[in-house]
Amino acid sequence: MKRRRPGRTGPEIAFPCARAMRSDAARQRGLPGARGLPRDAPAPGPVSFLAPTTPGGGLFLPVCGLDPQTGPFGGGPGPWSPEAVARRLRPQFDGRLHLPGGAGYEAGRSAWRRDVDQQPLLVAEVTDAADVARAVITAREFEVPVGVQATGHGTVRPTDDGVLLNLARLTYVEIDPERATARVGGGARWGDVIAAAARYGLAPISGSSSQVGVAGYTLGGGLGWLSRRYGFAADSLLRAEVVTAAGNRLVAGPDHDVDLWWALRGGGGNFGVVTELLLRLYPVTEVYGGLAYFPAERAGDILAYHRDHAADLPDEFSSVLSLLRLPDLPATPEPLRGRPVLSLRVCHTGSPDQGRRALAPLLAVAGPPLLGGYRQLAWPATDLLDGPQPSPQILQAHTDLLQGLSDELIEVLLAEIHGTDRTSPDESPVTVIELRHVGGALTRPGPDDGPAGHRDATYALLAVAPDLRPTDVPAARGYLASFARRVRPYATGGVLLNFLTDPSRTAAAYRPADLGRLTALKRVYDPENIFHRNHNIPPGH
Ligand SMILES: Cc1cc2nc3c(=O)[nH]c(=O)nc-3n(C[C@H](O)[C@H](O)[C@H](O)COP(=O)(O)OP(=O)(O)OC[C@H]3O[C@@H](n4cnc5c(N)ncnc54)[C@H](O)[C@@H]3O)c2cc1C
Repeated sequence: MKRRRPGRTGPEIAFPCARAMRSDAARQRGLPGARGLPRDAPAPGPVSFLAPTTPGGGLFLPVCGLDPQTGPFGGGPGPWSPEAVARRLRPQFDGRLHLPGGAGYEAGRSAWRRDVDQQPLLVAEVTDAADVARAVITAREFEVPVGVQATGHGTVRPTDDGVLLNLARLTYVEIDPERATARVGGGARWGDVIAAAARYGLAPISGSSSQVGVAGYTLGGGLGWLSRRYGFAADSLLRAEVVTAAGNRLVAGPDHDVDLWWALRGGGGNFGVVTELLLRLYPVTEVYGGLAYFPAERAGDILAYHRDHAADLPDEFSSVLSLLRLPDLPATPEPLRGRPVLSLRVCHTGSPDQGRRALAPLLAVAGPPLLGGYRQLAWPATDLLDGPQPSPQILQAHTDLLQGLSDELIEVLLAEIHGTDRTSPDESPVTVIELRHVGGALTRPGPDDGPAGHRDATYALLAVAPDLRPTDVPAARGYLASFARRVRPYATGGVLLNFLTDPSRTAAAYRPADLGRLTALKRVYDPENIFHRNHNIPPGH
């Protein structure tokens, strides 16, 4: 059969939802009514079942050190049409399959970063773990890669010519207030968990956006406002239900599949599809914090003061310092319009008095803000700490970890945001340089914590060229490369996986010994590297 490129004309196939095979779990959770992709056009009649002859005759030989872009599961031109894969999967699948040309396909393939333009064979919108297993097994039969998308916030490598699993309907959340845990579907967003946990005075280690997915964030480490006090989100992953590359359903935790549990806590989406997570929650109901903007002229002093006292700040005190060049547009509040500023975001989980006291010396250096301020906030309002939530967009970014913050680096960053750096002839598209203060509990891992993060850094740096037009991307990429060269002398060489947009730097997210263990475990759990449309860890030899 001749394989055609996914086009715009294929039918969108919806599946009967009252299938006998639907699991009780899915029924109890009422998943089909939950969030999902746009409904398909009326379902076409039943499609006849055609058993495919797989190129490998159904045999899957381990391929070590596979180049993610070539070989079995590498995608690229293959013999299969979307319809052939759909025909094979359909009889066993409770969810919906979206083929090129339909609204569900367009919504399902779209990533938060609009420059990641993926063209999967089809989007498989799953209802439960059984659906995931069937889709993975079918992808294996056709030797096409499997991509996983919950919200699209972290899609860095397009699932072209593969099966893209969409988990947007696996959003259930169950709180156990006695044990202070949350049982969460693999497609849930943090907003779902924050709201459910807050009813019991509990909070998860969520990040700067309630729209981000719980699973992708947690598997990549997960750095949030509570991390200096309680660690990475990955450190709070108590158990995970996983569909492996072989299509097996496993439960990984401290008592079973311990190696897999270890790998999941920082290894990203490399080790299987997580259909459910059990997370520890923490007793946080109110915080003292907020967001204020200060003139860039005072930014050098603020950064230097923060650096000098970073080691003394209590674990309860989390702060993010951002150098911003805000657009000269009516939508920008007048005091900030068209000028470089420093924003200081703060979250203190102790009493308001303690929070005020911890923040006071820094504010004394910062002087009066141009806008914003700090107050007591209910924990579910954490999005307020981060200001306006960014919309899906085209961007380019660079990240590094820093130990300390030298005067020279402060000069580099200030020159960048003032637009006075003269080492590049181009106008800088970098309008956001964020420094997240890390440390605290992150530096004190438990004995069996996973591979997440480099725990010895002081700051995580993220420079962003946001809101680009497609034609701006090559220049922005080149500019960020030159920015990276300027910052490199001051950086540790490590990165936090979640802040990485360049998949070629994935290895930098791990300590060498952890990377060795991860590649060895990848060989056990995904020897053919079927899950490589991500920050990929290839199987070791
Ligand atoms: C606006 C914004 C704010 C952010 N803030 C923070 C922050 O404060 N702290 C932080 O640490 N990170 C932050 N991030 C980064 C974010 O955590 C990562 O991009 C993360 O991968 C997003 O996960 P997702 O499920 O939402 O995205 P998706 O694009 O759906 O998934 C990203 C990847 O995660 C894997 N994945 C997702 N779900 C599963 C699953 N169920 N099973 C197996 N693999 C899965 C896959 O490899 C997938 O390619 C932010 C990102 C954005 C865009």
